Amino acid sequence: MSGAAKIRLYVKTPLAVGARVVFDENQSRYLGAVMRLSAGAEVLLFDGQNGEFAAEIVNLGKKTGEAVVKKQTRKFVPAKDVWLLFAPVKKDRTDFIIEKATELGASVIVPVITRYTIAEKVRLERFCAQAAEASEQSRRLDVPEIKEPVRLKDLLAVWDPSRRLFFMDESGGGRPARMVFAENKGAAALLVGPEGGFAEEELNALRAAPFARAVSLGPLILRAETAVAAALSVWQSVCGCWDGEENEKESR
Ligand code: SAH
Repeated sequence: MSGAAKIRLYVKTPLAVGARVVFDENQSRYLGAVMRLSAGAEVLLFDGQNGEFAAEIVNLGKKTGEAVVKKQTRKFVPAKDVWLLFAPVKKDRTDFIIEKATELGASVIVPVITRYTIAEKVRLERFCAQAAEASEQSRRLDVPEIKEPVRLKDLLAVWDPSRRLFFMDESGGGRPARMVFAENKGAAALLVGPEGGFAEEELNALRAAPFARAVSLGPLILRAETAVAAALSVWQSVCGCWDGEENEKESR
């Protein structure tokens, strides 16, 4: 693409050529006051289900705005089926986890409460806004779904065994990530523990679960947010969308 990248916004209105989209207050302020756009300008929109479209702003006030969809620019490609389960850490580090997990293609993000999770408030609304923003900036065509926080014990009790649960285990019990992922293709979930690690009884429960696999991310102890980025990166390169074959070829 030549020149400055076009502004990309996630909207909840289903998109199709001819559709009218009403911007919310935040988006209107962003387009007008921040980006200095006005009626006639073109923006890119995606809705998480129909792909990406070019739209023309038809009116823009301080708190309201509207656009008309002109043409489709990219077909919809859903994210690969990989969930990220993470134990919330401190605020700015959790922000980092949501942003990086979105960029690295997690389809669903689940905050998991473990024994040593610092039970700070889990700010779901903030997580959703951050995921939407990271999707806009990374050119994702969907936004990861963020689930309500769940206790690890409860999560294991109702786990659908057709989805592999890979738990990142720094205790030395796991095999190398790329090998474990290659042997277990299909629907996946990657679980990363809190700064304090998993409690012994949690590790025992995970090791006993027939659907779970222990994964090593190398000999060094990573911070939780690093482990998230590392686990998703290895998974994407072994099982996901980093193989180049399925990357869409349309112009960007
Ligand atoms: N408190 C622990 C470290 C926890 S690190 C200790 O000092 O021993 C936070 C989480 O990151 C862990 O629960 C684990 O899920 C993941 N992790 C960190 N390093 C890892 C590694 N080398 N291999 C696998 N998982 C790792």
